[in-house]
Amino acid sequence: MTNDANTSSFAHISTGLIHHPYTPPAGFDAPQPGVFKASTVYFPTVADMRQREWKDKSAYTYGLHGTPTTYLLEERLCSLEGGLQCVLVPSGLAALALVALAVLKTGDEVLIPDNAYGPNKALADGELRHFGITHRFYDPMDPQDLSRQINERTRLVWLEAPGSVSMEFPDLPEMVRRCRERGVLCALDNTWGAGLAFNAFDLLGDGAGGEGSLAVDISAHALTKYPSGGGDVLMGSVITRDAALHLQIKLCHMRLGLGVAANDAETVLRSLPSIALRYAAHDQTARALAAWWQVHPQCAQLMHPAFAGAPGHAHWQALCDREPGTGQAAGLFSVMIDARFSQAQVDAFCDGLKLFKIGYSWGGPVSLVVPYDISSMRQAWPGHLKPGTLVRFSTGLESAQDLILDLHQAVQAHLPMA
Ligand SMILES: *Cc1c(COP(=O)(O)O)cnc(C)c1O
Repeated sequence: MTNDANTSSFAHISTGLIHHPYTPPAGFDAPQPGVFKASTVYFPTVADMRQREWKDKSAYTYGLHGTPTTYLLEERLCSLEGGLQCVLVPSGLAALALVALAVLKTGDEVLIPDNAYGPNKALADGELRHFGITHRFYDPMDPQDLSRQINERTRLVWLEAPGSVSMEFPDLPEMVRRCRERGVLCALDNTWGAGLAFNAFDLLGDGAGGEGSLAVDISAHALTKYPSGGGDVLMGSVITRDAALHLQIKLCHMRLGLGVAANDAETVLRSLPSIALRYAAHDQTARALAAWWQVHPQCAQLMHPAFAGAPGHAHWQALCDREPGTGQAAGLFSVMIDARFSQAQVDAFCDGLKLFKIGYSWGGPVSLVVPYDISSMRQAWPGHLKPGTLVRFSTGLESAQDLILDLHQAVQAHLPMA
């Protein structure tokens, strides 16, 4: 086809540019999928418009309901996590909120682990409470406490493995079993495992979806972290293996008007091929740094689930390290800085780091550090945590050797033992 397109029949070039007849040849194939951007999606006829279905991904109706770009990302995320259906939302927190809004109603109760991602607790204490949905916090390390707190109003149990800041790894299969026994939905914040450290839909390793396999009902994932990998995109996903539950979440998603931008979806699609390699690299670096901390007396307690003595280490081994020595963990760990050091000294240590930047989130190329005030985050100081000031490290993709030199200089300067 020549470029002598028949646009001259219009009174003005604008019309010609908008209704331009050229269509590029089909069959373009390249490593990266195309980016489809749309609010409006065309229908060839009114009849087609009336009958088109988007809920089963068989067609397209409106940008908010899905495009080739978002469908592709959803399917790849299902493969990553072992799920069957996926909904994309604009942030990890939006994934947690969507789950709550989709499955809870006035009079219901939601149970949340006491070490959960803070904003999930804030959502329960804010909007959910205003909607007449109550919540309670349970001890993530005590399955009996979870059982005790489940009552006839409990509709949803949140799980997190490990807890966001204090990094306790719970007995996840046992928690899920107890939810199953009581017929309560369980949703996992799967951001740490990322679909790589363990399979949330196959907790016993006997085949996802198989007869008798143990699975969470819902996996919520902050794609902002490892799936993005860049520290530059906010996105979340809600993955299920149950068509009816997915539809319930999908309809709520539609009514709330949640959607993600095509360019952001494309960024995550571009990062997914390297997620397993990056996860392993972040893991290796985090363990090198954690091992460094472990022999330094400034560290009163190391919180990294792959280290002996860390809270829930045995549960991490059972779930993630079935073939000993092969287990994976995210590049995230916390150190309880000995109580002899003041908050001001710990702050100065964080400020004194050069390669580690001070900032929230994780999963990107740059190492991050944040001091946390545990006493303001928990119902009570957990018995398994030593006194002190907690500092969380998220390792980026820098060399472990350079990061250790950075830790060394900041410890020498700001946390003297003498
Ligand atoms: C970061 C994070 C979230 C929220 O993700 P955003 O995209 O920042 O909203 C939720 N859960 C966990 C465990 C996280 O680390």
